[in-house]
Amino acid sequence: MPKILVRKESNKEKLSNKFKSTKIKTYYVNDISKDYHCSDGVIKKSDLKRKDGSRILSNIKKEFILISPSFVDDYMRIKRGAQIVSLKDIGIIIAFTGVNKNSKVVDAGAGSGALACFLANICKEVVTYEIRDDFYKLVKDNIRFLGLKNIKVKKKDVFKGIDEKDVDLVVLDLPSPWNALKSVGKALKIGGFLVSYSPTIPQVMDFVRVVNNSSSFIHLRTLEIIKRDWEVEERRVRPVTTQTVHTGFLTFCRRI
Ligand code: SAH
Repeated sequence: MPKILVRKESNKEKLSNKFKSTKIKTYYVNDISKDYHCSDGVIKKSDLKRKDGSRILSNIKKEFILISPSFVDDYMRIKRGAQIVSLKDIGIIIAFTGVNKNSKVVDAGAGSGALACFLANICKEVVTYEIRDDFYKLVKDNIRFLGLKNIKVKKKDVFKGIDEKDVDLVVLDLPSPWNALKSVGKALKIGGFLVSYSPTIPQVMDFVRVVNNSSSFIHLRTLEIIKRDWEVEERRVRPVTTQTVHTGFLTFCRRI
């Protein structure tokens, strides 16, 4: 069971620091059966087994607070192969489709399995499709690492069919999502949602054209989430100078 060490400077340390900083460092400790070494010293394994909220000192007298990781802490450490869907985009998929503990979800392609695993954490069951051997294995590793039991990865081309029926949501993150519409139409329940994530506008144009020509789907909206992180330190409060500007466009459709 991993643990997290939160290193927050004490007031005494802050006063002695010429450049006042409220920076909080966190260390993710994968293996608590041995001492943990970091740039703030060595933390004894017996301390790593104490209860959450315990204050711990390293061998060089730096102070830490011990907590247990949440799903997101573990999720941030999954292995990445393909470009993953970002948290801001996952958030809006959940918000606009309302998926929950009763929902059955299909996802393709699995890539690193990031989106699929996040959805599995809140939905009843998730099946994710992947054509590449290497990514198929990677997703299996990530599912194991996160300890998820309600997600399955299938090594199968989603264009050739989806085995599941009566699905509440299908999410597509692949280069030509329009090729999956026939499979998706058969898998989704009437009223179910289809969300397609594409990094470029020509993909959105081609996808929406095919959706509009289909009698099985309606196009609800296409959107882009723009997120800006801010630096908040004393009176230096402003957007972080360099950050990711673009991830992808999300197109929401509904099976009718
Ligand atoms: N959403 C994923 C990333 C997907 S990357 C995540 O958050 O981790 C796109 C993936 O789609 C690639 O791994 C690619 O191999 C896979 N793919 C492309 N075409 C496919 C198809 N027809 N069926 C299944 N998977 C496909």
